[in-house]
Amino acid sequence: MKNIFIATAVLLSGCAGTWESTPVVERMYVITCGENHVKDLARFTGQAADKDKAVVFSDYCYLIRHAKGWMLWDTGNADRLAAMPNGLQTPVATAYMRKPLAESLKEIGVAPEQIQHFAMSHHHGDHSGNANYFGTSTLYMQQAEYDAVFGAEPQKYGVAVANFEKLRGAKTVKLNGDHDVFGDGSVVIKSTPGDTPGHQSLFVRLAKTGKVLLSGDMVHQSVNWDAMRAPGFNFNVERSVQSMREMDVYLKQTGAKLWINHDMVQNQAIPKAPAFVE
Ligand SMILES: [Zn+2]
Repeated sequence: MKNIFIATAVLLSGCAGTWESTPVVERMYVITCGENHVKDLARFTGQAADKDKAVVFSDYCYLIRHAKGWMLWDTGNADRLAAMPNGLQTPVATAYMRKPLAESLKEIGVAPEQIQHFAMSHHHGDHSGNANYFGTSTLYMQQAEYDAVFGAEPQKYGVAVANFEKLRGAKTVKLNGDHDVFGDGSVVIKSTPGDTPGHQSLFVRLAKTGKVLLSGDMVHQSVNWDAMRAPGFNFNVERSVQSMREMDVYLKQTGAKLWINHDMVQNQAIPKAPAFVE
């Protein structure tokens, strides 16, 4: 009986110790980085009922303050779109950038050169629009994405090459899977290929908000998450669904919430920069 008691006490104190020392980031700014007015939701859902249904996709950048430095995740639509009040027409959507990222960073009080760690979920223009600001940061990119962007055939992958001009010579950490950015488990890049060859998502641990997984375009809308389905235009649809299933397991294991970048309704209640989440 005594032995059982001791074993339980050790177990409990072990848990308490782990809990108290769990590293978290200090805060995270969710920055509005544009809007994409999608003309036909069916392109994303594959559902006949969504044909020609217009939907506004939100578009966020995430600035993370960790004790060891700043990290930026995604860069949204290009700031130059701010000079286009009627937006930029693309085959899929009309893209807007009402408040430039440069302005939002200034408001927070952080210059691009102060951001040591930089990663994008993937190369698409609504995430890489302002990537060139961060040529002095350390770039974290999956090898497969790096090869698509900087390889011999970027056009094959629909890469907007101009978005990456200043990153070609940047200090780059090429990844082949997950990566713990600060080495303490508080910010972890998760490999989620499918939408693009080297797509990635970001796990972040916050003290009050809890754990969140920033989707990137691993999934675009909650309706697709609920149905575990991926758009037909993805680089690899089957791998996209596999990444979703893997992240579903990961969310259950960690207890993290999924924050879907382009789901405007899901994001409504989350405070936006210059406010922050802790
Ligand atoms: Zn996107």
